[in-house]
Amino acid sequence: MARTFFRRANLLDGINPPRKNSVVVVEDERITDVCSEADAPASSSNDLILDLDGRSMMPGMVQCHYHVAYDNVGNLLDLDLKHPATMLTLIAAKNAELLLRCGFTGAVGAGSLHNIDVTLKQAINRGLIEGPRFVACGRDIVTTGDSVDFHPSWWKLEMEGLGRICDGPDEFRKAVREEIKQGVDIIKLYPTGGHGLSWPADIMTMTLEEMKAAADAAHERGKKIRGHIVSKRGILAGLDAHLDVIDHADMMDDECIERLANEGAFVVPSLYFPYMVVEEKRRTGRSNWGGADEMERGLENSRRTLPKANAAGVKFVIGDDFGTSAMPHGDYAKELEAYVKGAGLPALEVIRWATRNGAELLGMKDDLGTIEKGKLADLLVVNGDPSADISILQDRTNLHVIMKGGRFVECQLTPLTATAKAA
Ligand SMILES: [Zn+2]
Repeated sequence: MARTFFRRANLLDGINPPRKNSVVVVEDERITDVCSEADAPASSSNDLILDLDGRSMMPGMVQCHYHVAYDNVGNLLDLDLKHPATMLTLIAAKNAELLLRCGFTGAVGAGSLHNIDVTLKQAINRGLIEGPRFVACGRDIVTTGDSVDFHPSWWKLEMEGLGRICDGPDEFRKAVREEIKQGVDIIKLYPTGGHGLSWPADIMTMTLEEMKAAADAAHERGKKIRGHIVSKRGILAGLDAHLDVIDHADMMDDECIERLANEGAFVVPSLYFPYMVVEEKRRTGRSNWGGADEMERGLENSRRTLPKANAAGVKFVIGDDFGTSAMPHGDYAKELEAYVKGAGLPALEVIRWATRNGAELLGMKDDLGTIEKGKLADLLVVNGDPSADISILQDRTNLHVIMKGGRFVECQLTPLTATAKAA
């Protein structure tokens, strides 16, 4: 069986510091060897040899807060009213391929309407379209009058929008079970306002009993659950309800950090969205998004607390509200720089959030997230060293190889043959 040899790599394996002159061998869908040039196995004339000449190799990244069906959303009404389901599905399919071509070989949904995440996941797994490994989310589960219950009642739209309105633990349980019946892998709740919503962060828009009912119903059937949560009170309630993922957590403090680290919940800070909203407001004096001033306070708090929380062992992952008007699809890697330049985190740590932690949230930590013998070959070859300059990941032309499950999605390198190497 032919193998692919990646030679002379600067290896960012997700475990060790960068190691120059490394060799990674892939056979079928898996990595069969990771070693130094001196220890590399002999190649045969059937093998494909790629000389990386010092370029970096890292695991494929995972976008853990993904709205594949957000299309240049300028305000909440755009979410439901801008496109019919058929057109939006096609737009989302293009976004899924774009995400993969930006180096993200995995994605975890954070809310989509018309069951688009599930449809895309099935189409990707059947080979109909290109896209990442996908953990599918469904509609936003919210209460009456929540920020995401945004259609004026006199419009009498009677449509199935992004928000699915539930009140009381029984309705939450039923909604979660119906979402799971549709094929959803992760449930999305909106327990607090803030971070772009019309209700402020301190408002709890659902009760602890409702959150617990939803989480129990999801976990009972082996599914995950996540929540848009900004305030300290919301973070603690999310942990009391055993949510798997806390989205945003802008107002995290020491007490939250201790519990998040001890209880192992994932946190998606998604710092790039508030940064863009705050910048837009500074530039234009206005913002389309709710609570820009509050978001600025959250941004400052995140910048202060993220390094401490990271050191304490909180499991951070990468993901943000791309597809909103300030941040187009395709800009995904800009978020990583926000943590390095904005919060002073080491680039290698942020890469670990994007790869190793992301693979764990995908539910594939034994198969993905690091470059080790036996793991699936979801790999990137990067022109330069992203651990020295994280911004190089933003330019897709720097992604010289994108491999998913041992198959090339992109390869800009010219292979040597084994005979050419011998000569
Ligand atoms: Zn979101």
